[in-house]
Amino acid sequence: MDWNGTVPAWVKPVVLVTVLVVLWLWESARPFFEKPHGRWRHAARSLCLALLNTVLLALAFGVATVGVAAWTESHRTGLLHVWSLPGGVRLVLAVLLLDGWLYLWHRANHVIPLLWRFHRMHHADREMDVTTALRFHTGELVLSAIVRLTLIPLLGVTSAELLVHETLVVAATAFHHANISVGSLDRWLALGIVTPFLHKVHHSREPVETNSNYATVFSWWDRLGGTLRQCEDCQSLRLGLDEFDDSRWETLAGLLSIPAAQRPASVLEFQREQPVGDLAKLDSPQKKPLAAEKIDG
Ligand SMILES: [Zn+2]
Ligand SMILES: [Zn+2]
Repeated sequence: MDWNGTVPAWVKPVVLVTVLVVLWLWESARPFFEKPHGRWRHAARSLCLALLNTVLLALAFGVATVGVAAWTESHRTGLLHVWSLPGGVRLVLAVLLLDGWLYLWHRANHVIPLLWRFHRMHHADREMDVTTALRFHTGELVLSAIVRLTLIPLLGVTSAELLVHETLVVAATAFHHANISVGSLDRWLALGIVTPFLHKVHHSREPVETNSNYATVFSWWDRLGGTLRQCEDCQSLRLGLDEFDDSRWETLAGLLSIPAAQRPASVLEFQREQPVGDLAKLDSPQKKPLAAEKIDG
């Protein structure tokens, strides 16, 4: 197995746009949840956030990421440089390591209060569709980019390997956020990858479900971490966060101000009562209402 170690820069944007368009058309033709009102406005907000994040992240971290990856390669530092591996084997290992890191990072986003403040903007979406894959707070992406800068030399990954993983991530993220169903195929696909049903469980407003299914591309991280949770009746899942149901949060300014809102912690409160590792062992979802108060102001 060999690979020449390069990926054209156009691959990631072309894959992203293609997958977004195909899944948007799929959702239009056969939505899993009833087609929401204001679907275009919802999509426009997500696209604005994506544009803002792309520009800011490119300005703040574009050069640094390429520089750190080039330094890592020229100095042959990090785990993947310990052995002399064929390019293809290195690529597979790099993708696995980066995906495993994303699983841990996502779990941290649900456990560490500061990270949850930013990440809950993604979870506040009551009408999840393919464009929710673009709906992340700039603060969350900045923190993630900072940590990733230290991870590149530790793992010893190249910029081409990063780009392959990022391309997989954008395709997988669009797929599992889409308002679609692949029917009984979902259970089979879920043996290997994160499916629309698995990720819908993660977006449920029931804390026991929110705190499960953290993986991005490969679902086995959740199996290994004891956080995998299937839905028996996926149609009954209620998406979003109780604290952010008010429509004033669903504007660009409202979304960006979510980290500053008080009481970030309905999910975190639950975490203290119920260790994450025990979630998958529960027999049935807890359907009790959340104890969190509505946010004032
Ligand atoms: Zn999450
Ligand atoms: Zn999500």
